[in-house]
Amino acid sequence: MRVVLVGAPGAGKGTQAKFLAEHYDIPQISTGDIFRANIAAKTELGTQAKGYMDAGELVPDDLTIEIVGDRLAKRDAAAGFLLDGFPRTVPQAEALDEMLANLETPLDLVLELQVDEAEVVRRLSGRRTCRNCGLVWHVEFDRPSKPGVCDSCGGMLFQRDDDLPDTIRRRLEVYEEQTAPLVGYYDKAGILRSVVATGPVDEVTKRAITALESVQR
Ligand code: ADP
Ligand code: AMP
Repeated sequence: MRVVLVGAPGAGKGTQAKFLAEHYDIPQISTGDIFRANIAAKTELGTQAKGYMDAGELVPDDLTIEIVGDRLAKRDAAAGFLLDGFPRTVPQAEALDEMLANLETPLDLVLELQVDEAEVVRRLSGRRTCRNCGLVWHVEFDRPSKPGVCDSCGGMLFQRDDDLPDTIRRRLEVYEEQTAPLVGYYDKAGILRSVVATGPVDEVTKRAITALESVQR
């Protein structure tokens, strides 16, 4: 199963990707997570990406496409993958199509998570991430039993620098300008399915699985 998740920042891509990747036993590939890991490890890539991320802008296509190409070439992606946060521009989608055509493994499906803007602002403003294991929580919608501490591993939770109000606003503009056109791009290709991504997380997961099962593989 080769799947792309598309949706506004805060739509729940990472949250759903985690469950879907487990369900289908395929790797979750998140370009945002790859950039953040590189920033934490102070690599050259991390240094290059940080300025764009903190400003709510996209990291340039050439850099992003290269890291995805390297990641998809790893052995664990051969049996399928779930891309979360990539592609985010039409040139990235075209590059992905080309990479997968060369491997003769086209995408099975692109799943759009639909959430209105007021809800994504609420989700992003309250998002907290575990510094140790990367698990995502929410101060209101998915509270850990002890505030600021990850229930899963005991790590400390933090608020992402790009989840502050001005950056959230810019990220939503960037989504509308550069990423939303992908919905039309994949619809035209006949591989788009959309699900309403509001309501309890497990309900959204069920809707996503139903959409994924609708595809002949
Ligand atoms: P994305 O990867 O699309 O940016 P996340 O998966 O990180 O989004 O989710 C953003 C925030 O919204 C997180 O704090 C998460 O806990 C919360 N969240 C995710 N799904 C839901 C949901 N169905 N209802 C309420 N909050 C949610
Ligand atoms: P995310 O974790 O998906 O919310 O991504 C966080 C930030 O990483 C984005 O706001 C961008 O700055 C950068 N980023 C992640 N994925 C991409 C991508 N496919 N193209 C460009 N920038 C990206």
